[in-house]
Amino acid sequence: MSLKINDDCTSCDACVSVCPNTAISAGDVIYTIDAARCTECVGAEDSPQCQLVCPADAIVAGAVESNDQLMAKYKGLHA
Ligand code: SF4
Ligand code: SF4
Repeated sequence: MSLKINDDCTSCDACVSVCPNTAISAGDVIYTIDAARCTECVGAEDSPQCQLVCPADAIVAGAVESNDQLMAKYKGLHA
């Protein structure tokens, strides 16, 4: 699944640099994840890197996608 950021985000900026797909950006109030670019780190890492660094536990499950769909998305982004 792609992940999403909830209202617990404190806009600390820690997650942006660890995303292999440049899927995270600052929004008007909280940071946001572009679902079209989030592969749950499939293709690049063993686990979602943004969740590992978020001090607010603000990054949670979003739309459900299969592993094959996530890998296809990753390959599309890095073709
Ligand atoms: S799970 Fe991985 S690909 Fe998705 S936003 Fe977080 S760091 Fe980026
Ligand atoms: S690491 Fe967590 S608290 Fe910091 S900007 Fe990202 S989602 Fe928000």
